[in-house]
Amino acid sequence: MTETLDFKTTKTSKSRLQETDFDNLPFGRTFTDHMFVADYADGEWKNFEIVPYGPIELSPAISALHYGQAFFEGIKAYKHADGTVTIFRPDKNAIRFNKSAERLCMPTLPEDIFVSSIAAVVDIDRDWIPTQPNHALYIRPFMFATDPYLGVTPSGTYKYMVLIGPVGPYFSKALRVKIETHYTRAAEGGMGYAKAAGNYGSSMLPGRKAAEEGFDQLIWTDAKDHAYIEEMGAANAMFLLDGVLITAEAGNTILDGVTRDTVIALAKEWGIKVEERKVSVAEIIEGAKNGKLTDAFGAGTAATIAPVGSISYNGEEYFLSDPKTREFSNRVFQTLDDIKYGRVADTHGWNYTV
Ligand SMILES: *Cc1c(COP(=O)(O)O)cnc(C)c1O
Repeated sequence: MTETLDFKTTKTSKSRLQETDFDNLPFGRTFTDHMFVADYADGEWKNFEIVPYGPIELSPAISALHYGQAFFEGIKAYKHADGTVTIFRPDKNAIRFNKSAERLCMPTLPEDIFVSSIAAVVDIDRDWIPTQPNHALYIRPFMFATDPYLGVTPSGTYKYMVLIGPVGPYFSKALRVKIETHYTRAAEGGMGYAKAAGNYGSSMLPGRKAAEEGFDQLIWTDAKDHAYIEEMGAANAMFLLDGVLITAEAGNTILDGVTRDTVIALAKEWGIKVEERKVSVAEIIEGAKNGKLTDAFGAGTAATIAPVGSISYNGEEYFLSDPKTREFSNRVFQTLDDIKYGRVADTHGWNYTV
């Protein structure tokens, strides 16, 4: 049991738990009975509170809506067979939360408040955590600007909130992905390393176009030449090429993913060489052709490990090995699963017990 701060709590008068269909949990549509709210004004965070989940009242002039001062995090909590509830590496998200805040000229939140607020709302709704295989509780902390002012200037007031909801598996099959050579997700000096709301708004048109062409996901490339692989949708792109785990260097245009970091740590422990460096489209396509690309996947909290089935580039589709036969990503997936659900010892201290 970890020490948590005490927050003012208003419990719902009527739980929706019984009427929730736990056999049908599409990502991001089901929310639990409670949420966390806090306000920032006059230079400090205040009004920390757990309240029933539901609509909130805001001015239509809030600057988050007009100028995009808004960002979020994504974390998961798991229920072990013995009923223990753990959150996976929330300390890493706390650090990234504040990096996003700083990039968007928004106030940071003390790490202990971030972690305690999440733990508190998970705790009150712990009966909502699904227990089927590959299911979890998704945690969405976010912050947005609330000044009702149309001047293009940093807001003086903000809201921090945490929503949580049960989720099933994100992707059910190997992905057909396309290397994007026109649109850009992030440029040097931009905000690619922040989980800024605007990054996802700008990804929707390219995402829809790719979907219309029959692709499940995009692989983003660098803004300048479209010659280097950056990320895969809202996950980090990782490859096993000639026995070496390669992925783009985090920071700047690449989000510093917690799953990415975890995969790298495991690979190193297993004696696999890891290179965080520029990953050229050319070497990946070459590896797909000559069979040296033995694994390719997206790594992220929502999708965990999402295997790539084929990569398309300039109208040519390159098929990779059957995901079921891939040694590395299956081992990573299994190991991560065992740690998160408490089936093996958490020797890294990655599980935060609620
Ligand atoms: C959230 C996200 C990731 C994955 O990060 P995790 O911490 O592993 O969930 C990777 N890339 C982008 C662009 C993301 O938004």
